[in-house]
Amino acid sequence: MPDTSPPADPVREPPRRRLDEAGLLGAVEEARAQGIDRDAHRVIRWSHDLLGDGLMMTTSFQKSGMIILHMVREIVPELPVFFLDTGFHFPETLEFAERIRREWGINVILQRPKLFGEQFAATHGKLYERDPDLCCHLNKVEPQKELLDRYDGWIAGVRRDQASTRGAADSLEILEGAKLKVQPLAHWSKLEVETYLKDHKIPTHPLFELGYQSIGCQPCTQPCHDPSNERAGRWMGKAKTECGLHTFWKKKGNDLDPPAEPRPGP
Ligand code: SF4
Repeated sequence: MPDTSPPADPVREPPRRRLDEAGLLGAVEEARAQGIDRDAHRVIRWSHDLLGDGLMMTTSFQKSGMIILHMVREIVPELPVFFLDTGFHFPETLEFAERIRREWGINVILQRPKLFGEQFAATHGKLYERDPDLCCHLNKVEPQKELLDRYDGWIAGVRRDQASTRGAADSLEILEGAKLKVQPLAHWSKLEVETYLKDHKIPTHPLFELGYQSIGCQPCTQPCHDPSNERAGRWMGKAKTECGLHTFWKKKGNDLDPPAEPRPGP
């Protein structure tokens, strides 16, 4: 992104409805009964109707994120879209994010950690080598926590088939603190993602053409050719498989977990 100064955070009105955990569970049960959670467009619209400006999205502009952005652009173009700028992204990621912001008119807002760039390096050095869990916590989980303190709902691009660690992901999840997590593509397959991208002529991150299948921070991302695990190039050679963004918050309402069968995609 040529201009890396974050745009001012929008002044937020309180959401139209602030639901407690029981209210949120009831709303999610109702949405599931109506089959809303099985349709990516409907689940985005329903979430916004429910939470109003209490809803936001995060993305790192990968394939699933681009599909959701394509839908958001049509359904709720003013939605705040946060990009967790760790200070370690590939230049290609920053340039692609800026291109999409400019060409698609998306409300992209950079969310940065307390210590960023040179300040982080001066304090922690190459923390990603010594303690990647702590590095991810400081640079991803804590900035995301700040967002969840301020918003009631979070749209993310997690899919079940991305990795075994994501096999239980669902379209609508409730996190501790009565936060709604919306994962419109949770049940989509990789093939469905590729088909949607092609059918809608959606631009994709340039590093996918160089063998990368999942693109995070530069020091922790390698090209990978394992078709069964698209996240295999992340933290290669280490036991770590997740940054914590999608594992840190406890899920509530486990009794609402859906059956494991695949559901229809697009
Ligand atoms: S992915 Fe690597 S560089 Fe990025 S926050 Fe995690 S450990 Fe640090």
